[in-house]
Amino acid sequence: MATSWGSLLQDEQQLEELARQAVDRALAEGVLLRTTQEPSSSDVVNYAPFTLFPSLVPSALLEQAYAVQMDFNLLVDAVSQNPAFLEQTLSSTIKMDNFTARLFDIYKQVLEEGIAQTVFLGLNRSDYMFQCSADGSPALKQIEINTISASFGGLASRTPAVHHAQVLLIAQEKERNIFDQRAIENELLAKNIHLIRRRFEDVSEKGSLDQDRRLFMDGQEIAVVYFRDGYMPSQYSTQNWKARLLLERSCAVKCPDIATQLAGTKKVQQELSRAGVLEMLLPGQPEAVARLRATFAGLYSLDMGEEGDQAITEALAAPSRFVLKPQREGGGNNLYGEEMVQALEQLKDHEERASYILMEKIEPEPFENCLLRPGSPVRVDQCISELGIFGVYVRQGKTLVMNKHVGHLLRTKAIKHADGGVAAGVAVLDNPYPV
Ligand code: ADP
Ligand code: MG
Repeated sequence: MATSWGSLLQDEQQLEELARQAVDRALAEGVLLRTTQEPSSSDVVNYAPFTLFPSLVPSALLEQAYAVQMDFNLLVDAVSQNPAFLEQTLSSTIKMDNFTARLFDIYKQVLEEGIAQTVFLGLNRSDYMFQCSADGSPALKQIEINTISASFGGLASRTPAVHHAQVLLIAQEKERNIFDQRAIENELLAKNIHLIRRRFEDVSEKGSLDQDRRLFMDGQEIAVVYFRDGYMPSQYSTQNWKARLLLERSCAVKCPDIATQLAGTKKVQQELSRAGVLEMLLPGQPEAVARLRATFAGLYSLDMGEEGDQAITEALAAPSRFVLKPQREGGGNNLYGEEMVQALEQLKDHEERASYILMEKIEPEPFENCLLRPGSPVRVDQCISELGIFGVYVRQGKTLVMNKHVGHLLRTKAIKHADGGVAAGVAVLDNPYPV
């Protein structure tokens, strides 16, 4: 892979001039975030951090990522419809991880009551890095799949059920990424679909179900609930858990429903890599299975037993080759290097280790780019990128009525940071320059 913008990156004065122009353009185009100081107000906003240059991405890998997206949509959807698989896969995790356990509780409750809606809307983003193989060639390896609140899509999802209906976006009190959500709102409005923003607290105060479990908010019926909150433990008070259950019980279309959220857990990702599991979930689809498996990095269960013991021994022997992941979303939760070693030493004889998974660390080839951030000087950094592909699908009963890939997101960060996304202040927005 060619790795740099060459001479452009050498000329400091030119870089600063280009950065000034690029920042003005980003502001004019609405590539914006609210500030950390004022996350609930748009009085003062800043540009969302981005790279000065698009980063080079091998076009074969970009094409591969697009080509496998519909398979990932199918796979997530298959997992979400398989209670036995979800129950078995998450059984050790929910014993030790309270957050996953509470989500699973809601899942069980709605299954028992009977799911009120037959339409399912999935909007996910599968993220990859470009593993540098021994021979120097890059390979597409999945980091994770996000099935809830996959952000920076700014795209609209459609379903026949939503025409002239109201979409309820479950919003956080403080939302710096408001302009990403407004982009969706505007797209919907152009199709005459209204979106209202409410917090879980509002739902618990003003939301209700009628006897057919139709969902009403401030007296208006809601057709679709779109979650941009509810993927981290800190986002749930007792009141918020009640609101989540109410939404889940309703016959509104949920994006995602609770089963699909569970299908996006890191534990499920790890179990999917086990021999025979893809074949069981996607029977009669060997090509899809092969495309999916080609993107899997090494994933290891830490459940009590020999397999988990072996994984821990290997990670302790070569810490730089692994990442330790708890069942969390939103960045900044994974452990690397010395921190991982300490955690593993502490966890290894306790059942709590089952709430984590171990993953092979992807090592992309670093390249040079400038990460532009409000208030930071322009300078060249050694960087790596993470490619995300958005997927959307709609299922009615057992029939998939739509399955598409709907664009990409490239995020780039300096190699000195092991973890973290754009929201965490580590990565910045980028664009692939296919080569
Ligand atoms: P989260 O749900 O918090 O986004 P991720 O699994 O996406 O968790 O990990 C967060 C970040 O950590 C990723 O964006 C990536 O930069 C880094 N990371 C995660 N897994 C790996 C891995 N296997 N190899 C290298 N980096 C990784
Ligand atoms: Mg991630």
